[in-house]
Amino acid sequence: MASATLSGNEVLRSRAGRVMPGGVSSPVRAFRAVHGEPPFIVRGAGAHVWDADGRRFIDLICSWGPLVAGHAHPAVVAAIAHQAERGTSYGMPSPLEAELAETIVDAFPSIEMVRFVSSGTEAAMSAIRLARAATGRDTVLKFAGGYHGHADALLAKAGSGIATLGLPDSAGVPFAAARDTLTVPYNDLAAARRTAAERDLAAIIVEPVAGNMGAVPPESGFLEGLRLLATECGALLIFDEVITGFRLARGGAQERLGIAADITCLGKIIGGGLPVGAYGARRELMRLVAPEGPVYQAGTLSGNPLAMAAGLATLGLLDAAAYERLEALGGRLARGLARAAQRSPIAARVQRVGSLLTAFFTDHPVRNEDDALATDRAAFARFHAAMFRRGVLLPPSALECFFVSLAHDEPILDEVVTAADEALAESAG
Ligand SMILES: *Cc1c(COP(=O)(O)O)cnc(C)c1O
Repeated sequence: MASATLSGNEVLRSRAGRVMPGGVSSPVRAFRAVHGEPPFIVRGAGAHVWDADGRRFIDLICSWGPLVAGHAHPAVVAAIAHQAERGTSYGMPSPLEAELAETIVDAFPSIEMVRFVSSGTEAAMSAIRLARAATGRDTVLKFAGGYHGHADALLAKAGSGIATLGLPDSAGVPFAAARDTLTVPYNDLAAARRTAAERDLAAIIVEPVAGNMGAVPPESGFLEGLRLLATECGALLIFDEVITGFRLARGGAQERLGIAADITCLGKIIGGGLPVGAYGARRELMRLVAPEGPVYQAGTLSGNPLAMAAGLATLGLLDAAAYERLEALGGRLARGLARAAQRSPIAARVQRVGSLLTAFFTDHPVRNEDDALATDRAAFARFHAAMFRRGVLLPPSALECFFVSLAHDEPILDEVVTAADEALAESAG
């Protein structure tokens, strides 16, 4: 660069980097997985965001899922403003909580009661506590590459082949907290069955459509088999629908795939871009939660009225036509990216469920975390950088989903595909 003047993004990166680890509030945002530097976002509208240097991007991160209606949707902004004028937090029950809980109960036949929390992490952590209380057992089975937030018990080492005894996947997690978490590969029903035969499971927790190793659909029979297994062995089946709830259908993956969970974790979309989470189940289970039962769980900002208002406004936009549109838009982008990959010498395949999709740099299907880790992540990083230069903001990791929103209309998605054509040609050359 000829000039010594720092750009707005550079100034902010250096300021933030001095006072915040990695300059970020959540690690993936630091762009390390794509060997880049993150833009600082100052504004979002519809399918676009603008950074501190005034550059505009088509945003396929969409806050990692909550923004199914795009940035600053007028109905959501109006609902937040309306509520903000009446106060931002009461620490007491407010009518909006009952309304959002009713909306969730209407959408999910497996949910009769809901408890609101402030993040997906809290939802999954609390769901595990509830399952342990209900079953009187400690052991939890999860799947490698499944992410359920960062609670100690859920940060257990991913393994492959056979059940891996829980080893902490992060410094600072006590061995004792991870010991009762067993991990087997996603889509491996036989491994789940073997584990259930060896240990009394409190819960099987699964992303019904995996979204945190990139988009990995469940194979036919996998979730059906887990449902049966949980019932047979007396464990509770927890569907972590923090991404898929209200995205893949109004009733989430459960509606789309026709399988009922015992406990469901929600987050992201139900807060419409404000911090939120929730867990829900049939009444008999939820009555174990304090103050009705012995499972303690609380939160100062739980059921926050701004988050409830933003969530209700967002869910109000999600009618049958909205889901048809999300399906069509997701399909259009996936087909466009797949065609762009075919035109290039680079091996890439697009996996999609509804408006969730990932371009994996591999010529094999990605069925589990090992497959996802074996993709060409360096090629993804080059592709990410080439797309970024062309004004398309992709998730800065090969192991994440692209999120399509209702604001991503056909011309915008076609711009993404044109950029992908050029980016793939550039990465190949
Ligand atoms: C995002 C996510 C979480 C964690 O939610 P936070 O709000 O980030 O704590 C949990 N489970 C799944 C499936 C997620 O995608």
